[in-house]
Amino acid sequence: MDRLFHRVQPHPGEDGYGFLIRVVHANYLKGGPANLIELICEDSKEIRMQDIPRIANYCLNSVAELSQLSGIEVSRTGGEYVWQINGELITKSAFLASRYSKVCPKCLGESNYLRGSWSLTFYTACPTHKTSLIDSCGGCGKRLKWNRRFIEYCGCGHPLKESQSHTASPSSIFIASLIEHRFNQETSPTRGLLADREIDRLTNLSLDGLCKTLWFLGHCIFNLGNYGPGHGRKILTIDEADQMINQAIELLHQWPHNLGNRLSKLSTRQPSNSGASLIERLFGPAQSYLQSEITTDELFYVRTAYEQHIRKVWRQFDTRNQSTLSTRQMVLDSSW
Ligand SMILES: [Zn+2]
Ligand SMILES: [Zn+2]
Repeated sequence: MDRLFHRVQPHPGEDGYGFLIRVVHANYLKGGPANLIELICEDSKEIRMQDIPRIANYCLNSVAELSQLSGIEVSRTGGEYVWQINGELITKSAFLASRYSKVCPKCLGESNYLRGSWSLTFYTACPTHKTSLIDSCGGCGKRLKWNRRFIEYCGCGHPLKESQSHTASPSSIFIASLIEHRFNQETSPTRGLLADREIDRLTNLSLDGLCKTLWFLGHCIFNLGNYGPGHGRKILTIDEADQMINQAIELLHQWPHNLGNRLSKLSTRQPSNSGASLIERLFGPAQSYLQSEITTDELFYVRTAYEQHIRKVWRQFDTRNQSTLSTRQMVLDSSW
C-alpha cells in the first residue's frame, strides 16, 4: 500500500477526525476524513482501534501516537458500541455528539485543531474561556458538520474563530471543568456550585459514570412522564444538553434531599395505564435505566439514594391510601 508524504503530528487528546482533516490538507488530498479512512481501510468510514496500525503506517505515524486520539471506536458487539475519548471509554452513543461538531471559537483561534472532549454531549462550555461552545455557524446558522473540509471554516466559508460565543452557565462550566481536569491535571474543577463532598465524588467517577449520572438525574428523573421509548437515541443540541446539566445539578444540590423531593412530587402524578405494577407505571423508564445502567460500584451512591427515597415515598403512599396489603405487595413485586 502507498504511504503519504507529509507526516502530521497529532496533539494529545485531539479528535481523530479532526486529525485526519489536517492530514488530508497537509498531503493535498481530495475528499474528507471519511474518504481517507475508506481509502486505507476499504470497509469502514469510522476510525476503529483495530485499524490504527494500518492508518498509522499510511500516515507515517506511530501506533502509540494515533491510538491516543479521541473518538476511536474501540469495540462493537451486537449494536453496542464503545468509544475512546481522552483515553477513557464511553459506552452510550447519547454521550457522544460525534456526527456533529462543536468548537470553542477562541481555542480554535489559539491553536487550530479539534479537541476530543468537544465531541462529548455534556461538554458544552470552555472552562478556559468561560464561554459556551458553538454547534452552528455564525455565518449561515447551519449546524456544524463533523466532516467539513476545513477545521476552522464552516462549509459556507465563514471563519469559525470569528463566531460569537456567549458566556456559559456556571453548571456547564463546572461539568466541563470536571472533564477537563481528568486529562489535564494542571486545571481543577470549579468550586462553589456544589458542596465540596459532592464535587469530590463527581471528580472520582469515570467519564462514563459521570455521563450516566447526568443522564439519569437530568433526564430520566427530571423529565419523567415527558418522554417515550427511544428517548436516548437523539443527538442533543448544546441547549438541550445544558438544560439536562442544570437539572442534574439541581438534584445534586443538598444531596440526596432534592432528589427525594422530586421523587415525592412525581409520585403524586396519575400513574400510566397498564397492567404493570404501580411502581412501574409511575417510575418505569427511570427504573429501567437504573437497573440496566446504574450498576457499577461507583454509581452505588445514586442507586442507594434513589431506592431509599422510593421506599419512603411508598411508606407515605401506604399511609395515605391505608391499603397496606396491596401497596406492600407492589413493593415486593418490584424487583430490587
Ligand atoms: Zn476556549
Ligand atoms: Zn456557515
